Amino acid sequence: MIPGPFTYHRPADLNEAVKLLATLDGEARPLAGGHSLIPMMKLRLATPEHLIDLHGIKDLRGVRRDGDRIVIGAMTTQHDLLASDEIAKALPILRETALVIADPQVRYCGTLGGNVANGDPGNDMPALMMTLNATYQLIGPGGSREVAATDFYQGAYFTALEPGEILTGISIPAPQAGHGYAYEKLKRKIGDYATAAAAVVLTMSGGKVATCRIGLTNLSETPLLAEDAAKAVIGTSLDTASLQKAAAAAQTIMAPAGDGRGPVEYRRYVGGVLVARALRRAAERAA
Ligand code: FAD
Repeated sequence: MIPGPFTYHRPADLNEAVKLLATLDGEARPLAGGHSLIPMMKLRLATPEHLIDLHGIKDLRGVRRDGDRIVIGAMTTQHDLLASDEIAKALPILRETALVIADPQVRYCGTLGGNVANGDPGNDMPALMMTLNATYQLIGPGGSREVAATDFYQGAYFTALEPGEILTGISIPAPQAGHGYAYEKLKRKIGDYATAAAAVVLTMSGGKVATCRIGLTNLSETPLLAEDAAKAVIGTSLDTASLQKAAAAAQTIMAPAGDGRGPVEYRRYVGGVLVARALRRAAERAA
């Protein structure tokens, strides 16, 4: 339970952080809230020789509107998201999701950037970012680039982040006014990761689903975008048959691990139930 030795660095700006990551000898890792990294270090599943604490870089924290997009700094905590009027107004599903992450203590420290950069399939934000069609803003020794959340996740704890790159922000197109949304998460107890979870953002027109995106958490080694499931409900009034079709389509791409949260069959079954539940609740909320 004691981490290996490491050197602590606290750069004051992004350039210094990028330079440190690129030039230090041995493995160097950004440190955000530390609520995933420090436990992994204590278990010796991660043994970085240098920690680059991003807390000194003020520009990385905050929520701002940029035209029709909401841009959230990587160091914005889950608590900040809950306290933001802009998020409550434009991205209520982000607020709903942040509220079911762990407990207030974790949310005070855990950041949106750390949550999405970690690559842990149990984290709630990555599938939501895919559902919202978010883009990740990265900076590294080779300059800046953007990667769609849908292209970012390659395997459990493997992402498109190149060595030395820092995630600086998450840019999300503001969903249409009057959209419906729901994040349905099943967990064993407060503070637990999802046994399964489903995110839905949709719009309705004349009582029928006009647009729909569905994301899935902890039902595979990466977060999933359930595109066929979403297609199954477009143009329908979400009657029982189309909900069942959507759940079945989502279940075909689920490949959960059998673990303490339940056997594979159970988690896949629950995943289907949550997809149908999230679709129904999102439709009820749509104007
Ligand atoms: P850190 O732990 O600091 O970093 C995580 C990883 O991302 C590290 O590899 C780090 O190098 C990298 N990283 C961090 N920031 C950047 C960046 N800007 N650029 C590049 N790389 C970066 N999460 C959930 O989603 N749902 C839950 O239900 C949940 N339950 C939890 C329960 C407990 C008891 C605990 C301790 C944590 C739980 N978490 C849960 C995780 C929590 O939300 C974490 O805080 C989060 O996953 C990681 O964010 P962090 O800011 O702590 O990142």
